[in-house]
Amino acid sequence: GDYNTKIDYVFKVVLIGDSAVGKTQLLGRFARNEFKVDSKATIGVEFQTKTLIIDNKTVKAQIWDTAGQERYRAVTSAYYRGAVGAMLVYDMTKRQSFDHMARWLEELRSHADKNIVIMLIGNKCDLSYLRAVPMEDAEEFAQRENLFFMETSALEATNVETCFLTILTEIYRIN
Ligand code: GDP
Ligand code: MG
Repeated sequence: GDYNTKIDYVFKVVLIGDSAVGKTQLLGRFARNEFKVDSKATIGVEFQTKTLIIDNKTVKAQIWDTAGQERYRAVTSAYYRGAVGAMLVYDMTKRQSFDHMARWLEELRSHADKNIVIMLIGNKCDLSYLRAVPMEDAEEFAQRENLFFMETSALEATNVETCFLTILTEIYRIN
């Protein structure tokens, strides 16, 4: 049973980005392989965990989700405390959510450890016919700021497992 599994590492990863970009659905997809069609704005839940094996080690990913604190500067420093990874999420159909990535990144860097691993995520790639953010813009920003970058769909489960695995593997590698 799960109760006697030895955990080698616990990695805290925080989700940040504007409201409605799909942070909660990405987490639901990763942690429970679930997408809630009628989901309401997040209330209460602080984090979800998923245990996985990386390099023969048991890694517990503790993924934190904002609970309606997405207004500028409303996320408290407690949210960032101890984080070894961060997912900066925008909605690829909403240009503004991408334009806000710079200030989310600035806020993150002002709170977090300097070795934090950061991944930029363009979510809702199932809606690519409504694309408002060219992939090159995101790639250029990611390269300049030294971030990993991936486009995902929580709805269709595209790249969700991959992006979490990528960030967790890099966290494992440098820690
Ligand atoms: P949050 O505020 O960032 O946590 O965003 P939510 O996870 O609550 O999602 C906001 C809205 O976007 C909801 O209506 C979701 O169903 C929808 N959504 C989230 N991810 C996707 C996706 O990958 N594709 C599509 N088409 N809709 C999504
Ligand atoms: Mg949410």
